[in-house]
Amino acid sequence: MTDFSADYLYQLVNRSKRNTENVIKTAPLGICITDPNGRFEMVNPAYCQFYGYREDELLGQHFSLVVPKAYQARMTRLHDEFMRGEEPHELRQEWEVRCKNGEKRTIIAEAARIEGDDSKPRKVTFIVDITQRKQLEERLKQVNERLAYMAHHDELTGLINRRQGLKRLEEELERCKRYGGKLSIAMFDLDNFKTVNDTYGHSTGDSVLKEVTAVVNEHLRATDYQIRLGGEEFLVIMPGIDADAAYIAIDRVRRYVAETACTNQQLNVTLSAGIACYVEASSTRMLDRADKAMYQAKQAGRNRVVIASSSV
Ligand code: GH3
Ligand code: MG
Ligand code: MG
Repeated sequence: MTDFSADYLYQLVNRSKRNTENVIKTAPLGICITDPNGRFEMVNPAYCQFYGYREDELLGQHFSLVVPKAYQARMTRLHDEFMRGEEPHELRQEWEVRCKNGEKRTIIAEAARIEGDDSKPRKVTFIVDITQRKQLEERLKQVNERLAYMAHHDELTGLINRRQGLKRLEEELERCKRYGGKLSIAMFDLDNFKTVNDTYGHSTGDSVLKEVTAVVNEHLRATDYQIRLGGEEFLVIMPGIDADAAYIAIDRVRRYVAETACTNQQLNVTLSAGIACYVEASSTRMLDRADKAMYQAKQAGRNRVVIASSSV
């Protein structure tokens, strides 16, 4: 074993202390130490730079200075619990914080409890800025939500699209098969819509489609769904009602549509509808029956509702 002189050992300890201080000073991540009352006792340059404060503006201040108002009470309580040893010895959490210029940022804070030279606990917190990652995640989430919406909805009218609508119909049919109960559907198509486009242009035609679907939605029950099957052809799923009740509902909708003056040109359009109610059959069969009834409504002069006979 090598014997060192007391003087040499003293020099080594001092050097080690200076090295530790330099490591903390040059560390690329923000480090702070708070006392049992939550006041800053040490802040390193990266910490000051991140929050935009000078060291002397932070030392002695309560740490809630860098916490948005909404979380101040909660974070102070957590700090107290951590100091009392009620929280785990080490803590890693994501927080929203507030810089001097008011800017909100997101950090991951990793904290450890240490003992100060007065034998009282201290909290050392290491912070990593994850604001950009958070913003990117948020943007991705919004894009994904938008994509999911677009996959299920029709862009022009905002209605459920054909694929999603037929899926809903399958689900409603499944429910009827399993638990019994009634279900009706109405298929409707706007009358002579080509004339609207030919006379007033496609863009006016689009506006009419939007306004008509809004009127239909307004007069359906909250449990009914309106689906855009394509073009100027729509489907309404009406759970819980038989063909006669569906006839009354859709005929009322038909009258409201016929009475509505659409767009600045005050255009009145009408619809023809076919109704089919649930009988033990597939969705294709049900749609086929509604389609045939709709065709009959067209044949009979349009602007009317026809109930499919169950044998069709
Ligand atoms: P009917 O009473 O027999 O249904 O006659 P119609 O003129 O409505 O039927 P047809 O199938 O001949 O024409 C449908 C028209 O709907 C033609 C097409 O231009 C129009 N259409 C379909 N989708 C859209 C759309 O998204 N926007 C606009 N503006 N028009 C559309
Ligand atoms: Mg049509
Ligand atoms: Mg059509």
